[in-house]
Amino acid sequence: MSYFVKELFYTLQGEGAQTGRASVFCRFSGCNLWSGLEKDRHKTVCSFCDTDFVGVDGEGGGKFKDACQLGDAIIAQWPNSKHAKPYVVFTGGEPLLQLDDLLIDYLHQAGFEIGVETNGTITAPTGIDWLCVSPKQWENFKQQSGHELKLLYPLPGLSPEKFETMDFQHFFLQAIDDPEGAEHLQAVIQYCLEHPRWRVSLQTHKLLGLK
Ligand code: SF4
Repeated sequence: MSYFVKELFYTLQGEGAQTGRASVFCRFSGCNLWSGLEKDRHKTVCSFCDTDFVGVDGEGGGKFKDACQLGDAIIAQWPNSKHAKPYVVFTGGEPLLQLDDLLIDYLHQAGFEIGVETNGTITAPTGIDWLCVSPKQWENFKQQSGHELKLLYPLPGLSPEKFETMDFQHFFLQAIDDPEGAEHLQAVIQYCLEHPRWRVSLQTHKLLGLK
């Protein structure tokens, strides 16, 4: 199977429980909640989406013919260090449209831990070492377990109460980054103060000037 990758780069994870961790980011092309085209933005629940996941023309992106070719490109991004577990984050778009057992197994054999950031509409394969679920709509929300739930706030129809009894180790609220972002952040802070099950997630990569 071929894989379509928008961009592939080495950086620090900016959000959630793995914040600050050195990571290879593999951003797959395509999403099942939006075409990524501006002409369709008014039709999606993700009207706030600020990610470019269209095509394969980003840094390190391309069409990879099989798991070996993409796996080797990911391995080549990791620095030559014996003292840290190599880590790759599959994101998108929606990474579970493409991530499969062949690629997971190839990277595990190379010693990598595998993180995934998904919108939760597709059940995740087994073998993922760090599963971050960030729901965008209640309809078709399938992946109700994982390591962290990262809920953007506020989202219509997605109150935190709906998720807090699900099987996750960490519960994060993250303010939507739109023109009202400062007000959303105040609402997130207030919610976490009143509901200690939830923690604030910041987009630290933006604060640090990273991708
Ligand atoms: S699921 Fe994520 S990547 Fe896809 S359109 Fe929504 S916010 Fe953007």
